[in-house]
Amino acid sequence: MSYDEVSVPENGERITYDEDDDVLHVPENPIVPIIHGDGIGRDVAPAAQAVLEAAAEATGRNIEWMRVLAGEAARDEYGENLPDDTVSAIRDHRVAIKGPLTTPVGAGFRSLNVALRKKLDLYANVRPTYYLEGVPSPVSNPEAMDMVNFRENTEDVYAGIEWEAGTDEVEQVRDFVEDEMGFDETIHDGDVGIGVKPITEYGTKRLVRRAIEYAIENDRDSVTLVHKGNIMKFTEGAFRDWGYEVAAEEFPEETIDEDTLWEEYDGEAPDDVVVVKDRIADNMLQQLLTRTSNYDVLAMPNLNGDYLSDAAGAQIGGLGIAPGANFGDGRVLAEPVHGSAPKHAGKDKANPTAMILSGKLMLEYIGWDDAADLVHDAVEAQISEHRVTYDLERQVEGGVKLATSEFAEEVVDRIHDLA
Ligand code: NAP
Repeated sequence: MSYDEVSVPENGERITYDEDDDVLHVPENPIVPIIHGDGIGRDVAPAAQAVLEAAAEATGRNIEWMRVLAGEAARDEYGENLPDDTVSAIRDHRVAIKGPLTTPVGAGFRSLNVALRKKLDLYANVRPTYYLEGVPSPVSNPEAMDMVNFRENTEDVYAGIEWEAGTDEVEQVRDFVEDEMGFDETIHDGDVGIGVKPITEYGTKRLVRRAIEYAIENDRDSVTLVHKGNIMKFTEGAFRDWGYEVAAEEFPEETIDEDTLWEEYDGEAPDDVVVVKDRIADNMLQQLLTRTSNYDVLAMPNLNGDYLSDAAGAQIGGLGIAPGANFGDGRVLAEPVHGSAPKHAGKDKANPTAMILSGKLMLEYIGWDDAADLVHDAVEAQISEHRVTYDLERQVEGGVKLATSEFAEEVVDRIHDLA
């Protein structure tokens, strides 16, 4: 049985995409697939749904949710982790949102999150990191943080090319690397696990292109390419070089590189120009803390992007409030940065803000900026009064601890008041 026989809402219409013009056509009552997810997904996804629904209704529209399954719920219902119907429902409807999905460490099935991003070719994982008034932070100037991280989503460690120690395959790869590629003194004797880290010109350029386009459209000052090219010259170093190439070849009027900024403009960028610069990843991690306001849009290979965006998220209040979304061409799958936090699952206590703000990204993508602004303002007002879930309440004096569902109900009330 396919998804359209069981779960398509009768009253909704599909969002469509005009590929030639790169334009989405969004009805007033779009069908939006949603995966609640594992662990705390069961708590935060319904909470986010209620808030997004309220914002849509307050601006004269309606979201027709289509519940699709992955992870534990899919195993219970269909005996598989990621049914094809779930993937095709998201592919067909173009705009979707998901909660976290658990991935076993070391053994067991491969990440369903990675599988979804790859199957749907959602090549840009975008994580905006900005300060919300009232959020407790471990740093003294959290308001300096206003970054948007573009993390490549299909290659580097996400390519998943690796071989397990003790297998015939890994020994074949070792022989090839040692005997044919000349690395005969490099790998220690004994068991070894080997992974391959591909970074392509194609994958790099489409990610960096997207980051530059975003910076231009949103009046941002700079795009920083974050790499480890001093050590891995032909993968991370190539990422940097291809990144600069995209800027120079495709955006010659709209961008300048950092050398030109100093040589020709004495460090003062002209208006309406995006400065493209690069930083080595370890340096960038400390610059996040020490020179926060010098950075704006970051473009990164997969693993650097993972580390950087969690660290940036910590500076503005932690995983409970950090949103994200995965973009392809004419397609988005919004999802919070956090995982399924199994120890808090089903207790109605996790913070739904990250998932709510991921939904805000989804609303912006479909052009419902008024609804997105309502979500932002209502969440910020709620947090600034310190009526928050356990994770934030424990960090503020005099805060009121709310359950996930209570937090969402109060945000919905604020949306009604603000509209
Ligand atoms: P995690 O689920 O993000 O949780 C780590 C800790 O962060 C929690 O124990 C909690 O800290 C805090 N936290 C996360 N989300 C929160 C929320 N909404 N509200 C309040 N606090 C929150 O990371 P993990 O424990 O490393 O991963 C658990 C599973 O999730 C793994 O299977 C992993 O593979 C998966 N995962 C999935 C995704 C995804 O679906 N995209 C992303 C990351 C991880 P305290 O306990 O200290 O309060």
